[in-house]
Amino acid sequence: MSQLGHLEAGSRHDLHVGISPDAPDESQLREEADGAYGYAHSYETASRDGPGLRVVLFVSGCLLRCSYCHNPDTWHLKDGTYIAAQEAIDRLGKFAGALRALDGGLTISGGEPMVQLAFTRRILAGAKALGLHTAIETSGYLGDRIDDKYLSVLDLVLLDIKSSDPDTYRAVTGRELAPTLRFAERLAAIGKPVWVRFTLVPGVTDDPANVEGIARFVAPMKNVEWVEVQPFHQLGAFKWKAMKLDYKLVETATPTPDLIERCIEQFRAAGCRAR
Ligand code: SF4
Repeated sequence: MSQLGHLEAGSRHDLHVGISPDAPDESQLREEADGAYGYAHSYETASRDGPGLRVVLFVSGCLLRCSYCHNPDTWHLKDGTYIAAQEAIDRLGKFAGALRALDGGLTISGGEPMVQLAFTRRILAGAKALGLHTAIETSGYLGDRIDDKYLSVLDLVLLDIKSSDPDTYRAVTGRELAPTLRFAERLAAIGKPVWVRFTLVPGVTDDPANVEGIARFVAPMKNVEWVEVQPFHQLGAFKWKAMKLDYKLVETATPTPDLIERCIEQFRAAGCRAR
């Protein structure tokens, strides 16, 4: 069993590796049903990942392997700090007044919040009890695992749709696209607010047909409040190097303003509210 640790405020761009070496493999995780403990990477206190000013908790564990991931040190549970959910809630409580005043709240990101479902649900429920708006950022790949109880403590889903083309999705993430689309349709059916996020990577996801496919899929969904185009950056490149991972995007440039504008316009032309 991992030693219980303390999570200090930091940045998603700080490298964290091998902190809980005896943690289970993320693909084999069998959580304690109450989610009292789990693995967290870091947290930030002044973020815009969602409406208003947010605290963002980054949790460890992800089953995807995105070629452009800027946080590969969140892939494995063992790279996170083993903490009590109550510790995260208590720390959040210190910011609760300011977050409420600034129309913000808590966003849980990662990694993938749905890997540690009971743990993240418990923290989201704690945030709701503090009167805070709650969100998760997710690939949706494990969306079938989310039950109504989880959805009831969630005000917003930041849903990363990485591609509309199954082959591109598989090439970029190592996993299948269908579960993400299924989850998006389920959220649309119940009217759960969603911000779709699309990472624009030159030469990888920028094909106009790829963008068009996401735009056409999302446009009819009344629950999608925003489509956010997120330009690829190289801030995570040093982590791939430090972890001796095979980083294929060394030579990939950040998207030009013209490319970003073209992409946003594609979403708008399809009827999406995009930025
Ligand atoms: S889903 Fe997110 S955390 Fe997981 S590999 Fe992709 S970019 Fe990284």
